Amino acid sequence: MSTARYTATTPVGHWIGGRAVDGSGGRAQTVWNPAPGQAARQVLLGGTAEVEAAVAAARAAQPAWGEMPPIRRARVMNAFLALMNQHRDALAAMITAEHGKVYSDAQGEVMRGIDIVEFACGVPQLLKGDYTDQVSTGIDNWTLRQPLGVVAGITPFNFPCMVPCWMFPLALACGNAFILKPSERDPSPSLLMAELLKQAGLPDGVFSVVQGDKVVVDALLSHPDVKALSFVGSTPIAQAIYETGARHGKRVQALGGAKNHMVVMPDADIEQAVDALIGSAYGSAGERCMAISVAVLVGDVGDRLVPRLAERARALKIGDGMQPEVEMGPIVTREARERIEGYVELGVAEGAQLVVDGRGLKGPGLAQGFYTGGTLFDHATPQMRIYREEIFGPVLVCLRVPDLAAALALVNAHESGNGVACFTADGGVAREFARRVQVGMVGINVPIPVPMAWHGFGGWKKSLFGDLHAYGEEGVRFYTKQKSVMQRWPASIGRGAEFAMPTAK
Ligand code: NAD
Repeated sequence: MSTARYTATTPVGHWIGGRAVDGSGGRAQTVWNPAPGQAARQVLLGGTAEVEAAVAAARAAQPAWGEMPPIRRARVMNAFLALMNQHRDALAAMITAEHGKVYSDAQGEVMRGIDIVEFACGVPQLLKGDYTDQVSTGIDNWTLRQPLGVVAGITPFNFPCMVPCWMFPLALACGNAFILKPSERDPSPSLLMAELLKQAGLPDGVFSVVQGDKVVVDALLSHPDVKALSFVGSTPIAQAIYETGARHGKRVQALGGAKNHMVVMPDADIEQAVDALIGSAYGSAGERCMAISVAVLVGDVGDRLVPRLAERARALKIGDGMQPEVEMGPIVTREARERIEGYVELGVAEGAQLVVDGRGLKGPGLAQGFYTGGTLFDHATPQMRIYREEIFGPVLVCLRVPDLAAALALVNAHESGNGVACFTADGGVAREFARRVQVGMVGINVPIPVPMAWHGFGGWKKSLFGDLHAYGEEGVRFYTKQKSVMQRWPASIGRGAEFAMPTAK
């Protein structure tokens, strides 16, 4: 297989019924390489016809796939796992070329996606039901989990490999057919993964990719044969998808945006806290749903920490993500950079102290790309929009608070609740923090506590609409429905109709 196809200028199309197709639409959008700031290729935008074709292929293929013993589906996932490992550098290079994040970070993203494929290989164990012998005399009761049928996933630009892997490996392993609608900003990795699934032995039609925008999402949302939707993206879209999906009778998990705080206690190891803040605020240019965008500095720690942070933010090595020494790449698009720099201007107008200004970044090779530098604000207040809203760029906002209680009150009052961290040397403080904080994923001296494949990922409040987290055992629950079977056999059947609620006899 040639990966040249995805790095060349050929338009990126769809994958339906086990093959690459261009579709009928005629609409297309430019995919940029943000480092040189150049149009790299087009992505074809699908419509109702592509969604209909993908759903029809999925409906035709799913019954046989769902009937296949789980161990055989696991073998397909095992073959896919091996292929993903073989192609992980190609996937990472595609990600850097369309997203802009540094290559080592893209490799890490691919690896975290592969972890979930590996978890999905254990599906026979995960689908084991419960069994109670003799719930009543001569009667047994057990539960089993069955696939939903055709399910779909809509994914954001910032993890074009990992976030789809939060969804489709488990959905497929559980016996569903899956339709992926990737972000139109970095669509190429989805097609390589589709080819690898086919090579691994996945029957045609069980996995499809429909490229596109809101038109495709709306068609999936209203399609009666799509039984469940997983969404990851910004909060307003997540909320709209949750509400519309529910109105159409679908099961929906919709993961939204974030404003992740890192609380630094006065007893924290300062070097460790500075390293953690720099990596988690400016890594991937802040375009991570688990990026730390707020530092909550407790007591006198701010006076010691902010000068160190400023020095490090000014020294960030920014450039093309394929250069090994680079720490932070460009922003995904020109419009996104303008939005981020607009927030910097707003922060100044709101009265926050601009300690490091990342705007107007200059340097060799940076002129045409979508670059902005690392920005640092201090003495922000909870009323400011730069504190309340998700900027999704390399902008770290510091607030000062007197004690742990004030830090917790601040974090808990924020409408987002994706990730949070507390840096401290005190186990009692750490325990209190982890128990009281109203956030879905907590790090103690860990800045980006993204749970491993078998734990599941999900925020609280406006960071997740729905009941079940992505992947882990909650992912298995999301992609299956429980059935309870109660049985007795003629020898144990008593005579006479029963009119009262049966109880154990
Ligand atoms: P986005 O919400 O703009 O887009 C996400 C997906 O929705 C894309 O596939 C896009 O094509 C589609 N979409 C966009 N507008 C739509 C509309 N009006 N109707 C229907 N579909 C639409 O998000 P993005 O810019 O691609 O990604 C960044 C956002 O995703 C950030 O807010 C980030 O915090 C969030 N995110 C959250 C998590 C999480 O786990 N909670 C993970 C990654 C990213």
